[in-house]
Amino acid sequence: MISANQKTEFIDQAYRDSVATIDKKGKRNYIFPKKPKGSLYNKRTIASIIYLIVFFSLPWIKMNGEPFIMLNVLKRKFILFGQIFGPQDFFIFALGMLTFVVFIILFTVVFGRVFCGWACPQTVFMEMVFRKLEYWIEGDSTKQHQLKTMPWNGYKIRKRATKILVFYLVSFVIANYFMAYLISMDEVMRYVHEGISNHLGTFFTLIGFTSVFFFVYYWFREQVCIVVCPYGRLQGVLLDKNSIVVAYDYVRGEPRLKKLEKEGNAGDCVDCKACVRVCPTGIDIRNGTQLECVNCTACIDACDEIMDHLKRPKKLIRFASENNIAQKQKLRFTTRIKAYSVVLMLILSALVIMLSTRDVVDITILRTQGMVYQKLPDGYISNLYSARMFNKTHKEITLTLSIPEQEGQIEIIGKQPTIAGESYAILTLLVKKKAVSIHKRKDEVKIDFFIGNKKLTTKNTTFIGPVGS
Ligand code: SF4
Ligand code: SF4
Repeated sequence: MISANQKTEFIDQAYRDSVATIDKKGKRNYIFPKKPKGSLYNKRTIASIIYLIVFFSLPWIKMNGEPFIMLNVLKRKFILFGQIFGPQDFFIFALGMLTFVVFIILFTVVFGRVFCGWACPQTVFMEMVFRKLEYWIEGDSTKQHQLKTMPWNGYKIRKRATKILVFYLVSFVIANYFMAYLISMDEVMRYVHEGISNHLGTFFTLIGFTSVFFFVYYWFREQVCIVVCPYGRLQGVLLDKNSIVVAYDYVRGEPRLKKLEKEGNAGDCVDCKACVRVCPTGIDIRNGTQLECVNCTACIDACDEIMDHLKRPKKLIRFASENNIAQKQKLRFTTRIKAYSVVLMLILSALVIMLSTRDVVDITILRTQGMVYQKLPDGYISNLYSARMFNKTHKEITLTLSIPEQEGQIEIIGKQPTIAGESYAILTLLVKKKAVSIHKRKDEVKIDFFIGNKKLTTKNTTFIGPVGS
């Protein structure tokens, strides 16, 4: 058994000088991970099947006549649970993003990077779709390596061509669904029915997306997690000794078998490197938590199999915190976790309030510029307003307006306002008050908006008039 302080004595520190996916000449070191197998891999397969069913089903689902989810970034139109969110919902969107970020931070502080291995679309598609196809076409890691190093011949051309074709076709399907998430499945199907020649621009965009997905899954692969993804790079500041990550139990495992002759008291690790061979990012988890580890748990399964053969207890590599390994400490609800939880609850409550009080029509009332007030012959004072309204639904809405009788009267210039779905309308209106009822130069008036008999909202605005007329 070794202590945390002794740990570094047993670990070859050379791993700090290089990246597994880059060779000494600075070229890409292609990783050929061995096909994982084991209980966690089976669970991950089931989870990914559910994940993929949800991913490919959501664009087909509709709610209130709208897509269940649509994230049209270009048109700044977002639909969640059938509710349309536009630029006027910026605060809800910002708060939603903030909630998501705090949730991710809290989740990472407690559970480390488990999201990456089990729920990130990049890992799910890479490891559970493209990698499986690769094993099916080219065979396990040894065969893949042989194929890469062999000279070009009929066999290699056939294997490579099949892989390119299959990968490109799957990338094309994913690109179509990606577009459906952006512009809705209805639009994608419309383009399909109307033909490529009528939508050449969209078609080339689709080919662009397909090519990007193909490039990522055929060649770039784990580099997305190691080099591009900002979340991976945040681990250094988010994880602490209490965070649960995929970790090697160095207390039980060290000194490794190869050190046996020197140390004379070997730990449980037999230095078989099975855990390294299955790792899709090519790292050795025995060196400790590393940025490249996506918590895919393949090394846990691989090591469990070895421990099983050796009739030693499993979970030499397991989900555990540094404190759990070094001091056998259970997960503690630390001040940091408490603080993040409180912040998350506060933001979440604010988000729920904003969502539940969100109106289907966004209304802004302003007094007409350049006009102060008008004295009318019947003893009334009038103010002219313009109301800018945005209908957030896809249906046409007709509004009626009123103010309490004792406050005065309201007149709409023109007909009752009807706003087409997802459109703006500007309404001009006149509010009249009896001159004798005006006691302040700048008073307030409340205007009620109704859809049918149902009150939508009440807007307050200023009313200006001469005092003591
Ligand atoms: S170290 Fe283990 S959990 Fe981390 S990426 Fe490699 S195989 Fe997956
Ligand atoms: S699989 Fe287990 S026993 Fe083999 S090298 Fe890795 S940690 Fe050691």
